[in-house]
Amino acid sequence: MQLIWLRSDLRLHDNTALAAAAAKGPVVAVYLLSPEQWRAHDDAPCKIDFWLRNLASLSASLGNLNIPLLIRTAAHWDQAPQVLLTLCRELKISAVHINEEYGLNETRRDAEVAQALAGEGIDFHSHIDQVLFKPGSVLTKTGNYFQVFSQFRKVCYSRLHFSLPGLVPAPVRQAPTSIASDPVPTHVEGFERPGQALRALWPAGEQEARRRLDTFVDQQIDYYQSERDFPAKSGTSQLSAYLVAGVVSPRQCLNAALQANRGEFESGSAGAVTWINELLWREFYKHILVGYPRVSRHRAFRLETEALAWRDAPQELAAWKQARTGLPIIDAAMRQLLETGWMHNRLRMVVAMFLTKNLLIDWREGERFFMQHLIDGDLAANNGGWQWSASTGTDASPWFRIFNPLSQSEKFDSEGRFIKHWLPQLNDLDNQQVHNPNRRNGGDLFSAVDYPAPIVDLGQSRARALAAFKNLPKRQDTAV
Ligand code: FAD
Repeated sequence: MQLIWLRSDLRLHDNTALAAAAAKGPVVAVYLLSPEQWRAHDDAPCKIDFWLRNLASLSASLGNLNIPLLIRTAAHWDQAPQVLLTLCRELKISAVHINEEYGLNETRRDAEVAQALAGEGIDFHSHIDQVLFKPGSVLTKTGNYFQVFSQFRKVCYSRLHFSLPGLVPAPVRQAPTSIASDPVPTHVEGFERPGQALRALWPAGEQEARRRLDTFVDQQIDYYQSERDFPAKSGTSQLSAYLVAGVVSPRQCLNAALQANRGEFESGSAGAVTWINELLWREFYKHILVGYPRVSRHRAFRLETEALAWRDAPQELAAWKQARTGLPIIDAAMRQLLETGWMHNRLRMVVAMFLTKNLLIDWREGERFFMQHLIDGDLAANNGGWQWSASTGTDASPWFRIFNPLSQSEKFDSEGRFIKHWLPQLNDLDNQQVHNPNRRNGGDLFSAVDYPAPIVDLGQSRARALAAFKNLPKRQDTAV
């Protein structure tokens, strides 16, 4: 009997480990509930709920193929070896199959499980599934991990020219086993269930992920490049939560985009090329996590930036978290995060830069808050995005190029449609006022709307950030 240990790969189709297990014959699946570990990782309650809903959907699909899904608890991953060993003994498992997960704790957990199983003669097979290329296989000429995205992408392109990652078949129905599936819990203690409105935005299941992918590729991908930066439009795929939970695979996404673009990834539709580029950013940050494990340990990628004098400003941090900074684009974006578990990419950059530059608050505060609320929270992408915005990361935004939230607002939400959706008290303001309701207009306040004044002066805070970065010691290169 083969065991597939499901983690962030909650799908039947194009699941490398599941296909490999099924090819060897009868399979049983297991999923571990790990609430203590999830809390230590700041996993958001809405994300845990999304995982459970997808797990229930997958359990039904596996059931149709006579593959039972068992649920066990290893509250902390330290317990995973013992829990799995006990299960393997019970079911006389000869091999366990997993899809690799990246991050220090994940890697350590899998090594410990493999060792415990080996002690009893049980094989442990790990497969590449979450990424297009194995981390460590896309390296510079001198054998190091890339630090610059465009150079990383160039090597990815040359690999893709050589061979495209193919899809693996879904398992076929097996003979019934005597093992009954466990019910999938609808709730895990300590993770509050999100409201119905949030849940309705993110229906569970592979079918929904497929529907999103197909609709995006059929109707939107060609406009992606020109529309992806405007938060009032549905210009992006909204697939991130499904990719993070593994309800859809990056290979399925790449294949769908290539089909829409006659097999081309570097030319053809500018929209498709740009979207594939984003899939490669996702890939890049996963490789960074493996190549530079310090980013898993809350360390800055650019070590010299650890000397930055971040401000301890609890009231300003609270205003940012609670969407009351007095800057409509920031507050509207934070409302979107709090109410939907997702934020538009352009706004993730804008709010992250505002926190780390205008408020000069440590990027780790923002990274953590995002993880605690995002339905698509992902260590690699979230850390990458925060360190990019804070200019502490790999291919980061240069420290002297600080987004002005008002110009960003005027450029990407010129009519204030996004702002007004999330801050309806600003509905009556015109296209100019809506970006900065408290701006003085020849001495008069534009309006008497119920909206706070900005918590910070944008010009002065920008100068403060520039001074803080300018005084940093020279760049240190270390490979830790
Ligand atoms: P699309 O625009 O349709 O892109 C398709 C897919 O490509 C996404 O689903 C995602 O998997 C990947 N992708 C797109 N942009 C990026 C990027 N910049 N970096 C890495 N992958 C990317 N993404 C997460 O999945 N989880 C996070 O926790 C996360 N945190 C972020 C934090 C900050 C500060 C920033 C600036 C970005 C973060 N991102 C994160 C990246 C990006 O904002 C989201 O992936 C994107 O908004 C998801 O929407 P979508 O599925 O419609 O994306």
